[in-house]
Amino acid sequence: MSDKDKLVTNMTEIMSKFVALVGKKLPDDVENKLQDLSKKETSQLAKVIYSTMQENQNLAMKLNRPCCQDTGVLQFSVRCGTNFPLIGELENILTNAVFQATITAPLRHNCVETFDEKNTGKNIGTNAPYIFWDIIPDSDVVEIDTYMAGGGCTLPGKAMVLMPGAGYEGVTKFVLDVMTSYGLNACPPLLVGVGVATSVETAALFSKKALMRPIGSRNANEKAAKFEQLLEDGINKIGLGPQGMSGKYSVMGVHVENGARHPSAIGVAVNVGCWSHRRGTIVFDKELNYQTISHKGVTL
Ligand code: SF4
Repeated sequence: MSDKDKLVTNMTEIMSKFVALVGKKLPDDVENKLQDLSKKETSQLAKVIYSTMQENQNLAMKLNRPCCQDTGVLQFSVRCGTNFPLIGELENILTNAVFQATITAPLRHNCVETFDEKNTGKNIGTNAPYIFWDIIPDSDVVEIDTYMAGGGCTLPGKAMVLMPGAGYEGVTKFVLDVMTSYGLNACPPLLVGVGVATSVETAALFSKKALMRPIGSRNANEKAAKFEQLLEDGINKIGLGPQGMSGKYSVMGVHVENGARHPSAIGVAVNVGCWSHRRGTIVFDKELNYQTISHKGVTL
């Protein structure tokens, strides 16, 4: 086996363990936010639901099994340095890691070939897992977000292009319409990702990127950060509460990511994460030393 083959095997093994971990244990920021919301809710029902969520987390680790039956379709956001030694092998590594984790974690078989309408039984298929790339010049490090896109949290996703006159009021109406009509398809409290850009695909990509940000972070643009807060306050007023059973808080947060737009169009998209927001971030250096950024203190 060549040195490169050994590195590929090693990284595939680590990524398959990381995918399995993401299916079992929520990232630190989500765990903290759920505890925080649980303290702030006053109704008995909301408190019971939050304590059940906590018990679910404890049991998933104790019994070594996924914390939700829907382990989703795997998506990866990759920020890869141009000098990372396995840049050319990374797509195969991630695909094989998902296949391995499907057996070892285990993961539910969620990959259905469109048109053929056949479940591959492997969680891999045409273009799946989905990989979104950012190439980072003069770097030998790779940073990988792993995300399990469950059915319930994928269903509320929506994108459209608004007339320019719709303005930010139009963006607000779009987001609130999605939340009031489809928000319950995911299991609240939700993490809401909003993309504002120039077309449906640019806005949709930003809305997914927004879900990869740690909870509590704010958009670097002051006006966009204020918009995040206003949307958060507005969606909380709907009163979804945990699991949609009513409460003071509907969301864990609202994140907005944005890009410049054509003057005649406002592209807007919403993507939603559920309370079981299984997102993990791992960084590898060129020797494959790794750090689990989202799950501190974990050894794979
Ligand atoms: S919305 Fe989330 S918590 Fe609810 S069933 Fe789907 S993946 Fe599981």
